[in-house]
Amino acid sequence: MIHEILPHKLNNEFKICDPKLTDYVIRYDGAKTLLKKGATNTIPRVGELLELEGKSLADFEGHYLFSIDETAFFLDDSVTCGDAPAGYEYMVSRTFRNMSPVERLGGATAAHLAHWESLNRFCGRCGREMARGEKERSMVCPKCGNVVYPRISPVVIVAVHNGDKLLMAHNIDNPNPRLFLISGFVEIGESLEQAVHREVLEEAGLRVKNVRYFGSQPWPFSDSLIAGFTAELDGNDTIHMQEAELSEAMWVRRKDIPEYETDVSISCCLIENFRRGFTLDSDA
Ligand SMILES: [Zn+2]
Repeated sequence: MIHEILPHKLNNEFKICDPKLTDYVIRYDGAKTLLKKGATNTIPRVGELLELEGKSLADFEGHYLFSIDETAFFLDDSVTCGDAPAGYEYMVSRTFRNMSPVERLGGATAAHLAHWESLNRFCGRCGREMARGEKERSMVCPKCGNVVYPRISPVVIVAVHNGDKLLMAHNIDNPNPRLFLISGFVEIGESLEQAVHREVLEEAGLRVKNVRYFGSQPWPFSDSLIAGFTAELDGNDTIHMQEAELSEAMWVRRKDIPEYETDVSISCCLIENFRRGFTLDSDA
């Protein structure tokens, strides 16, 4: 999954520090991140952008987000929305999915933080311009004291099985045409397990039992943390698909499920776990 980057290590504790020329730099325009175009797009380095603009390290305006091994990710504070230099382009976060494990996790997580900061430039309570926290990863209002932390929205995803069949579905908004699983954001006032029951009932018209926690993963593409579950069908197997959310929902026999890559998403891990007869470890 996306967070499994061994032998590399994410260091996400808060600190304030200076950049090196070899560190990554995230330049975010409010929706997209500046990337270097290539057969595989890459995240620019601090030295690379400074050289393009005829600047030195002393001119760099940006702040530290986190590091992976010895290489830090910095968020560029110098521009709010500049044109992309030749050979570069502002791209959506989904682009990080095709990068190396380090750039995929680091880039998408940095873009998640950049997006959060862009939404919290002003205090939601009193309207004053916010400042970055100096002791923890936060935005602080100097006037009323309002403190805002990075937004991480919990999501549940569930592999519902009925004998040798798995409930698979395709979400209308997913550009990937493959079948995946039932999932959705956790609503206020409910537990993760209650969200599983509600989502399966809403999206497929089915009841489930024996809801079991499988594992979790960060999902920076939707500012989320995803909790994965398995569950068994309880009662009637007739699917009533929610057409506002899904384009397909069906029972698929184990032998008819193709292989799914397990290196990025917990969705694919849950599908593979079922396909392999419940033998996949969530931290495999
Ligand atoms: Zn305020």
